[in-house]
Amino acid sequence: MNGYIMALDQGTTSSRCILFDHGGKICSLAQKEFSQYFPQPGWVEHDPMEIWSSQLAVAMEAMAQIGAAAQDICAIGITNQRETTIVWDRKTGKPVCNAIVWQCRRTADRIGALSPEQRELIRGKTGLVPDAYFSASKIAWILDHADGAREKARNGELCFGTVDTWLIWNLTRGQTYVSDYTNCSRTMLFNIHELRWDEELLAIWDIPEAMLPQACPSSRVYGYTEASVLGGRIPIAAAAGDQQAALFGQCCFEPGEVKNTYGTGGFLLMNTGHEAIDSGQGLLTTIAATPEGEPVSYALEGSVFVAGSSIQWLRDEMRMIRSAAQSEEYADEVCDTAGVYVVPAFTGLGAPHWNPHARGTIVGLTRGCKKEHFIRATLESICYQSMDVITAMEEDAGVPLGSLKVDGGASANNFLMKFQADLMNTETLRPKCIETTALGAAYLAGLAVGYWKSRDEIRENWQLGRRFRPDMSEETRSRLMRGWRRAVRCALVWAEDEKMEEKAEEQGS
Ligand code: ADP
Repeated sequence: MNGYIMALDQGTTSSRCILFDHGGKICSLAQKEFSQYFPQPGWVEHDPMEIWSSQLAVAMEAMAQIGAAAQDICAIGITNQRETTIVWDRKTGKPVCNAIVWQCRRTADRIGALSPEQRELIRGKTGLVPDAYFSASKIAWILDHADGAREKARNGELCFGTVDTWLIWNLTRGQTYVSDYTNCSRTMLFNIHELRWDEELLAIWDIPEAMLPQACPSSRVYGYTEASVLGGRIPIAAAAGDQQAALFGQCCFEPGEVKNTYGTGGFLLMNTGHEAIDSGQGLLTTIAATPEGEPVSYALEGSVFVAGSSIQWLRDEMRMIRSAAQSEEYADEVCDTAGVYVVPAFTGLGAPHWNPHARGTIVGLTRGCKKEHFIRATLESICYQSMDVITAMEEDAGVPLGSLKVDGGASANNFLMKFQADLMNTETLRPKCIETTALGAAYLAGLAVGYWKSRDEIRENWQLGRRFRPDMSEETRSRLMRGWRRAVRCALVWAEDEKMEEKAEEQGS
């Protein structure tokens, strides 16, 4: 098969473009970081025009690197940072304000004000735990704060989009206004069982349906790039949120298959087939990327807020290592952590604890504790946190994990991957290509235009880079996990204690 599939990977800190060939090999890659804006503590914004211009620039650069022209690109697949919210003017295409990024906490109070009935409604219809991360409260904030926005929205003059929608709109010069089911499922406005925008959810935020894109399957020709954009008309044939794209790129096509991405944060997703499993453990239910013409698949998702970023913290704040990779050398120099546990709850604890008040905690220090132990304990904490999510997922799914496919920047760390296998007592499988997010978007686009014929053909491309087998005794494993649970309790008690002290002070005054 001649030609390439172009994956546009629009992330939180950079825009990337990768051209893949039929074997799933990377033929060219371009990347560009863009500006992060922090107008107030806890607020995070991006400039939508910079998102678009950086994405377009890397697309052109990736093509130029190998002399590819528009007719050499068989299709474009998009994957993107999820939940980030953009609102623009339908006529001019100009954003009404900066994009509100998924990390932004500005609407936390609004979420706190939801009634128990509203929370129940949201949970049931969207599969999400109501939170400021998701798009709904961010859209409402924009409608409340941008000049005349609510009235314009009612008159159909404004468009809302997650980043997939924004890129497709710009690539087609406003001809195509769509979003895919996986991105829709992160807005907190989309009924994931009926696959449609939901009036009751829209009413909670007073968001008119006129400002929402058409919801589509993740793999379908949505439209064509306007000829002047990339020098020809290229089919735009897929979109999926980054974690769902990675699940697809890891070929987790069957129910029960799981991937864990070790990036800045950690994201564990399990394909649950056509059943939307309602988590009893605080995990999210979400839509998985599904080729057109098939009933939609679902996934369970659990996230760890601080994974690879704890290694950045060791490097930049603690100044214990010079590079992230060096953490592996230090960890290998000692045979354990000398009883030390690091709980990197810098921004609270996510699934399954969901405690926003918890803070980073270090326990078990003795006089013999060295830097090597400390670094090892920080690396191990990434695996322990993943383990908590895995245990919750096994409980929800009712089956133990078969094996774990891994990707993301920190999955390059062999110590980390081996320790994860030991804790789980199952293998971790690291593919040769850990660019699974972009690859997933490429596969979805390639399937839509017949570049790849079936999932089986794609599965043949998945090549094992390295397998990590567990060899830890049951006794050690349960002793370590017991220690971790004690350490987490310490982090939670620290948070609870503060609340109790505050209460006592209030009552005293
Ligand atoms: P994201 O897509 O979330 O920006 P990446 O998948 O690029 O993240 O992974 C980057 C993260 O991985 C960083 O937080 C970095 O500290 C961590 N990382 C990269 N290489 C290693 C390594 N060899 N060992 C441990 N952590 C690593």
